[in-house]
Amino acid sequence: MSEVIDGWGLGACAPVVLAPWQERLHQVRRRKRAQTAEVLPFEPADPPAEDESDAVIEHRDFLTALRTRLGSSAVQEDERLAAHTSLRVGGPADVLVVASDMDTLRQAVMLAWEHSVPCRVLGAGSNVLASDRGVPGLVVINRAKAIIFSEKGVRAESGASLSTLAQRCVTRGWAGLEWATGIPGTVGGAVVGNAGAWGGDVASALASTRILQPDGTVGLWKVEQMKYGYRQSALKGSAVERGPGTAPGATRRPVVLEASFKVQPGDRHALRARVVEIAAHRRATQPGGASCGSVFRNPPGDYAGRLIEAAGLKGQHRGNAIISPVHANFIVNLGGASASDVLSLIKLARQSVKEQFGVALELEIELLGRW
Ligand SMILES: Cc1cc2nc3c(=O)[nH]c(=O)nc-3n(C[C@H](O)[C@H](O)[C@H](O)COP(=O)(O)OP(=O)(O)OC[C@H]3O[C@@H](n4cnc5c(N)ncnc54)[C@H](O)[C@@H]3O)c2cc1C
Repeated sequence: MSEVIDGWGLGACAPVVLAPWQERLHQVRRRKRAQTAEVLPFEPADPPAEDESDAVIEHRDFLTALRTRLGSSAVQEDERLAAHTSLRVGGPADVLVVASDMDTLRQAVMLAWEHSVPCRVLGAGSNVLASDRGVPGLVVINRAKAIIFSEKGVRAESGASLSTLAQRCVTRGWAGLEWATGIPGTVGGAVVGNAGAWGGDVASALASTRILQPDGTVGLWKVEQMKYGYRQSALKGSAVERGPGTAPGATRRPVVLEASFKVQPGDRHALRARVVEIAAHRRATQPGGASCGSVFRNPPGDYAGRLIEAAGLKGQHRGNAIISPVHANFIVNLGGASASDVLSLIKLARQSVKEQFGVALELEIELLGRW
């Protein structure tokens, strides 16, 4: 169990009594699950991540509370997620808050939890595919990005850019995060997904992380508690938990607030040379343009990109989305692509690789929203 270092108790949570809209929500959800199962041929490991609600959720009380707490200008309705994801696709979030500091992040999430509104924190949106039909509830775009150096090492707020953090370490002569330069996500997204490259990953660099837990307390989690595996963690996907008193369906996902990393003194010139080498390798092997990085996890002993290329799919496109001719595990938005275009290519790749090589590719990215 994590150590509680700071209390954010939710003593005032209501017991589970379903309002009429929540009853309707359950009926809609059951219907949608049945439809989704037909449309998306993914295993439970790759579910459409947020199917908690459909348009029946009424957010008025929540919106009023959010506006009162954060100010009206901080709260947007029906803001398209295409503006907040690296793939540049995605329909509207019912409600969206850009949190430029830790306090706003915590308050927005806690209010959503108190009102049983589905809530999703995004960093750079560089590892997700958001549905054209939008994402229910609240989406918080995390821009709390302080980076603090001390004699012991470095800690960063979860909205800090992972690549910026790595570059600042190199500039100061701290070794241990060079592999992270060029990864376009935030510290929070990296801690959740165990981001990694060039032989390094979060699992080997993280010391501890502060987490806003579903019961409203903040815990200090040691790296061992994260149960890291290849692009997996205790927080990713399966870590959907309900807090006390929440309506069924309105899940509470733990939120990464901050992370401390293990870094050691290193030779600045050697560190800089490594960063330059990594950047050159990235430019040579990965496409530019709007993408969400590697779409599929590499299967054991092989590479998803190699399999998709061997299936003859490089350059295949649906609408304005294309399987990159540079790296077949990347899908690039050439401009104006829809999430459905991207999903069609995902299904094509999955089906072709399964038929030709008997390998079931699993998604590395997460599908968000109403599918
Ligand atoms: C061009 C390109 C290259 C890439 N190269 C790599 C690479 O080399 N290695 C690699 O591992 N990845 C790579 N990626 C993928 C991506 O950048 C990483 O997975 C990154 O760590 C995702 O961070 P993010 O902030 O964008 O997360 P998001 O996409 O915003 O979110 C991903 C998941 O994390 C959750 N999340 C985000 N922040 C928090 C938080 N504070 N608390 C709780 N949950 C949170 C979200 O809800 C979501 O479930 C690449 C992507 C692109 C576009």
